[in-house]
This record gives sequence, structure tokens and C-alpha cells, in this order.
Amino acid sequence: MAVRLSDQFLEQLRDRIDIEDLIGEYVDLKRAGRLSKGLCPFHNEKTPSFVVYEDTRSFYCFGCGKGGDAITFIRDIENLEYIEAVKFLADRAGLNMPNEEYDDTIIRKKKRMLEMNKEAARFFHEYMKSQKGSAGLNYWLGRGLTPKTITHFGLGYAPDDWDTFMGHMRSKGYSNQELFEADLARKSQKGSLYPTFRNRVMTPIIDLRGNVVAFGGRVMDDTKPKYINTRDTLIYKKGQNLFALNFAKSSKEDSLILCEGYMDVIALHQAGFTNAVAGLGTALTDEQVRLISHYCSKVYLSYDSDEAGRDALQKALGKLTRTPLAVHPLTYTDAKDPDEVIKKFGPERWKSILSGAMNDIEYKLVSIRDGLDISTDDGRAKYLTKAVPVLAPLSAIEKDIYASRLAEETGVSKDAIMVQVKDAERRIARRASRSDFSGLARDLVKPTVHLKAYRAEETIIATLMKSPDFLKKIETELTPDDFISEGYRHIYAVFAERTGSGQSIELDFISSELSGEEISNLVKLKNGDLLVSNTLDEVRDCIKILKEEKKKQNLNNVASLSDEEYLKLFKRGDS
Ligand SMILES: [Zn+2]
Repeated sequence: MAVRLSDQFLEQLRDRIDIEDLIGEYVDLKRAGRLSKGLCPFHNEKTPSFVVYEDTRSFYCFGCGKGGDAITFIRDIENLEYIEAVKFLADRAGLNMPNEEYDDTIIRKKKRMLEMNKEAARFFHEYMKSQKGSAGLNYWLGRGLTPKTITHFGLGYAPDDWDTFMGHMRSKGYSNQELFEADLARKSQKGSLYPTFRNRVMTPIIDLRGNVVAFGGRVMDDTKPKYINTRDTLIYKKGQNLFALNFAKSSKEDSLILCEGYMDVIALHQAGFTNAVAGLGTALTDEQVRLISHYCSKVYLSYDSDEAGRDALQKALGKLTRTPLAVHPLTYTDAKDPDEVIKKFGPERWKSILSGAMNDIEYKLVSIRDGLDISTDDGRAKYLTKAVPVLAPLSAIEKDIYASRLAEETGVSKDAIMVQVKDAERRIARRASRSDFSGLARDLVKPTVHLKAYRAEETIIATLMKSPDFLKKIETELTPDDFISEGYRHIYAVFAERTGSGQSIELDFISSELSGEEISNLVKLKNGDLLVSNTLDEVRDCIKILKEEKKKQNLNNVASLSDEEYLKLFKRGDS
């Protein structure tokens, strides 16, 4: 976002806002010493892990990892743009927005883009129902959808020509530039404008407030690309929405069924499973995980049974098992997706798939066992070696249950298995206590980056927050490229750029330049108990570690450590 308010104004705003009062309007907070605690408004929880820090004017949730300053809070809870959130707070504090810096162009633009999308959705739908659009209507009907479902989802069809859609939108007063900015039209290499969607069946993406924010367009034959989706625009960011959540949020179930595609979701809704949603053309993002945990306490994962689907499922599991959500991957053999299950076998079958769903632990164990022949000693040993780390982070009761099952499956005594599990658990605990960092125990279960490097990065960033003047002294020694994790690299780049132009790097002034996840990370560091000695020497040591680690590791691979490599990592840490 190009809008940048002056530090002076933001400081004024900050001083007028009592973050505890502000958040207290949304969350029932209880004082506990210097902090207050409550139930997190961003995910579903029963015991409070949402903390507001008066000292640092920030909040952090230990359950879902969301954190930030007052602006971030309002932005997320009210679902506003940065500048709108600032205005919201300024109004509340009785402060005028600085005129020379603020104008509401963006807000007006957004509003108009929403109207434009609504008009486009209406057009696609009406066109589908007209004589000329019968190909589209027949496609949907051919997929087994009823007219009621087609209307419910506002499905449509985009004309198979270059002018009809554009002409219609222009007649409604929308300019070429506006159509381009909404990604309803794209530019050819020569610079001429053409409609983004042609001869495709159209699915509008509707946000939680009922606005049409984007479209998915699918071909009706085998032409490539199969799908064209709206790119990021002012009103739509890929990965921040879930398809059909606008309907699913009012479902009576305390669960969501996360599918891969629109078609699965639409078929499930038609069959009465109105709690189905889909990601939109991306791997599951943190934003989506937050959305899910906000609306339910249980999630079923329905991914295709091909390799790409299994891959996506693994990634989704990695993210979801870090939340309090109960996670149930769905498996079925005689159909490739939910749409097919329902068509072939009817809704009853789907119901029984849901009720017989494995939990994530069972699923992990089954996946490990799959490629192994556990009738051999070698197969059993491999199975147990890989299964033990799965059990290590579980509760005592869960450990007992799964160790018993493993014993039954392999014929190895439960006691022997428990010894291994305890051993693995001790390693994790030792690692975690050494990390000085409460969140890391969980991250350890699936490290995303080499731990040593990660801690060095944390220490550098935490120290710079405490002593911003260090930055000047190390800027020639450390460039953003030296960072290994993307988030810290970007944070450091922002720090460096602002310091270079003589601006403050306090959180309140930089939150417009960072992603939600980056802000959360900073807040966690700021309020966490990471021990930094706050000396320049320590920072220099960390820089050395970073550079060494980068040399040593092929860092493209650390994000996908195999289980063996991962176990080695434990062992190295202990030796
Ligand atoms: Zn939370």
C-alpha cells in the first residue's frame, strides 16, 4: 500500500489510544499483573491464550500466533484496509486525519470495484440464462447441478467473444482502466484490452459480507488453462478468502469440510453439506487457517488422492495441527473427489466417510505404514522409527492409545515403544527449553528452517528492536539476502530502509509495510522471553552464524527435511 502516514501522526494516534480499552470492546479481558488475558477473537478456543500487553501496546495470541498493534487489531477484527483502520481509530480518538497525506481515493475505488464486480456477476449469470449462453447453462446442468444451486451460487457464463462483456461494462459507465484494475480485463502484449474470461463457466467468489470480490472461470472442455482466477486486486488477495465460507459460516455444524475445488464445494452444498469450503488456487495459507479456526473447532480435509493432492494435504496438515482444531483427513478409494462420491454413491456415503474419518495422528501413521512391508523385521523397524516422533508431542493418554496400537500392529512390546517415545519427547523438551522461546516447541515438530539460523535471526531482529542504533553499525555487514527465513528477511529490509531514510522502526510506524504474519512475529519477539544480551557483539556472532549456516546448508532443502534428516537434527543437537 502506497499510503504512508507520517510517524508524527501515528505517534499522536498511538498516544491517544489505550489498547486495553480498545480490545476490551471486543474481548472480555481479565487483568493478570502487567498483562490482560482473554479468549482470542481470531480463533476458536476455550481457555484464554490471547494476551494484551499494555507496556508495548500490543497483543499476541499463543493459540493461533496472531499479534500486532492497535491498528493491526482493528484491521483484522473489522476487516479493513490499513488506512481505513487508521481512520477508524482516529475517529474514535477524536483526531483528524492529516489532509495532505490522507485521501479516501482508495476507499472510493474499492467501493466502485465491488459494484463493478457485482455488475459483472449479474451479467455472467443473465448471459448464461439467455439463448446465447446456453452452452454455459448446459455445462452446469450436465455436472448435475439443479437450477436452484446455480442461482444460489450465482454461477454464470462468459461470452465466447471479445466485445459483448466489455461493451456491457462500458455501457454501465466503467472505464477500460477500471476493468483492468479489477482484473476483469487484461492487456495484450501490444497493449490492447481484452476480457479476462471468455467462453468459461463463471463462479463468483463472495466474501463474508456478501460482496463479489473475484471470479473463477473454468473451461468446458480440456483446453488449458483449465482455470483462470482473478489476480490480486485492491479488493481481493489470493489466500485470504475461502470459497463458500459466506454460506458455510451459517451452517449448524461446528466443522468445516475443506475441499480442493469449487465444484466439490458446490456439489457438497447441493447434497446438504453446507459446511464445505475451498481454498482458492493456493496452498492453504495462515490467513485461511485463522478463518477456519474462527468458525469451527473441527476441520475435515478433502484433497484429491493424486500426488499433488497428497502433497497439498501434507502441507495443510503441517499448518492445521499447530492450531487447537481437530483435524480429520478424509480418505476414500472408489472415487476421486467428493463430487464423484456423491454422484456415484449418494450423500449417505459421504456422511459415512465423514463419520469414519481418521484423525490426523491416525492418518500420519497410516501414511507412514503405507509404503512399508511390516511383515518383515526391517519394515517394522522403519515403521516404528518414523512413527515414534509422531507420538512424542502427544498427551499422555494419546501416547498410551497409539503406542498400544503400534504394539498390536508390529508385535513389538508397548513398553519398548514407550521408551523410544519418551526418549524422543525428552529431546524435544530439551531443545525447546534451550530455545528460550515458547512457540518453538511446536515449530520443532516440523521445522521450516534450520533452527540455529532461525534463532540467530530472531536474536538479531529482537536486538535491533531494542537498540535500533545498532543498525547503522552493522548495515555493511548484514544485508537482507543473508537472512534465511523470508519473513525476517523482509522485516530486516524494512528496518534497513527506514533507518537509511532516518525513520523510526517502532512497530507502530512500520505495520503498514508488513504482513500480518510478520507483525505477529515481531510482537512475539518483542513481548517474548527471548534472552538477548543486547550487545553489538552478540549481533555480530549471530551474523556469523547466519553466514556459516547459509554456506553449510543447501537451504532450499531445509524446508522439506525428510524424517531421517530431521531425526539427525535432534541427535546433533544433543551430542
Ligand atoms: Zn488466537
